[in-house]
Amino acid sequence: MSGTLVLNASYEPLSTVSPRRAVVLVLRRKAELEHAVPGAYFRGAALDLPVPQVIRLRRFVKVPFRQQAPWSRRGVLVRDRHRCAFCGRRASTVDHLVPRSRGGGDTWLNTVAACADDNRRKANRTPAEAGMRLLVEPFQPTPADALVLALGAQGSPASLPEWLVARTGMAGAA
Ligand SMILES: [Zn+2]
Repeated sequence: MSGTLVLNASYEPLSTVSPRRAVVLVLRRKAELEHAVPGAYFRGAALDLPVPQVIRLRRFVKVPFRQQAPWSRRGVLVRDRHRCAFCGRRASTVDHLVPRSRGGGDTWLNTVAACADDNRRKANRTPAEAGMRLLVEPFQPTPADALVLALGAQGSPASLPEWLVARTGMAGAA
């Protein structure tokens, strides 16, 4: 199957997302399951979840699907799954690759999630100047990512079961 259809609260079709993203939206109570794929399940340790074919958002949202997702610090953390781009540990801060004091902007491609230690260590330098290597390249969220970000993926993926995080790739480029 290609994807799960997302309906607005008004039943207006909005977009499609991957079935795994759809499961996350349902688990986070952002959406309700309207139709499941017959006989298909995501198998989990504790429970099996039906694979959504159609979900409907619980609250009406205006989402700029065709536009770029607006940049935000929280959005960067969600995109990078709260993992430090330099060491992979839990990240709570956002690092500007080209520091703002040197003209670097608040853009998706200039920012990565970073742990406080690495953010402090890098300081007012570029990664190259600091001799720090990026484990992941920052990317512009896709329209499907924008949906997840716009819905406010509150809390970290760490609050979800590990198997589900692995299967959903919450912030990955779908
Ligand atoms: Zn780090």
